[in-house]
Amino acid sequence: MKSRLVFVTILLATSAFRPETRPEQRNAILISWDGAGGEHVRANISAGKLPNLGRLTRQGALVDIEVTGHGTDTKPGHAQMLTGYDPNLTGVYSNTKFGAIPRGYTVFERLQQVFGKGIVTIMLTGKGPNLGSQSSDGGSAEPFYLTRPSLTVWDGDLIRPARIVGEHALRYIERYAGKERFFLFVHFPDVDVGGHYFGEDSGGYDRALAECDAWLGKILTALETRGIADRTLVYVTADHGFDKGSKRHGSATHIFLGTNDAKVSLPGEQRDIAPTVLSAMGVDLTKIAPRLPGKVLAR
Ligand SMILES: [Zn+2]
Repeated sequence: MKSRLVFVTILLATSAFRPETRPEQRNAILISWDGAGGEHVRANISAGKLPNLGRLTRQGALVDIEVTGHGTDTKPGHAQMLTGYDPNLTGVYSNTKFGAIPRGYTVFERLQQVFGKGIVTIMLTGKGPNLGSQSSDGGSAEPFYLTRPSLTVWDGDLIRPARIVGEHALRYIERYAGKERFFLFVHFPDVDVGGHYFGEDSGGYDRALAECDAWLGKILTALETRGIADRTLVYVTADHGFDKGSKRHGSATHIFLGTNDAKVSLPGEQRDIAPTVLSAMGVDLTKIAPRLPGKVLAR
């Protein structure tokens, strides 16, 4: 019995993120659960309905995040999550008022500016235009139009549920694990879809959250199986929340950041997510221009 306990302890120790890993050696996976509200996620963790996010955040942290400076829509939420800038710099104000994010501003490009070919960048999404890279004949371009050419892998512009997005995420982990350093962004649309269809206080919304959580579990297992869990940061957040008891998210500013990084400890704003990730990956924030308005949420 005692030897079994020791074995379990060792297994857990090797499968968790090791804070001693040098920032320049870390991978990161940033996961967006579209439309996942902060209070609802916390309640479901407490109720044991999101076991994988529960496990991740018990190793690391779960902090409250407030969406500020823009409407609670998919386009501006992701633009701010993935750049750290407010709409005056990204040009993405709402789902209807937007332009292409200027070249060089995203987390993907910041990592490439510092680490060059030393890092693989992957953007994987399950929504079309709101995280799109297309440009129409009239000249209006979707937010990631100027970002796409610099990415190692663009896997977007398609509407896909978690079971497809999740499979693709596992494939990228399989492809790069142990071979190249990577930053992988994964967008799951299902919670937002569930909220619009069934409402925030519905079984459909809970089922979508549970499915995203199941995929988080498969991603964490893949990191363990490939032997890179100790040096891979995992973040789970949202672009916006959901209006309580509603099928809309017109004023849904409460979201969250869950991570296996135990250094994260402060609640903050959506604009803090990009500097938090960049800093943990070894980027010197003082060298970034224009200056990032947010703060690092870690001690
Ligand atoms: Zn929506």
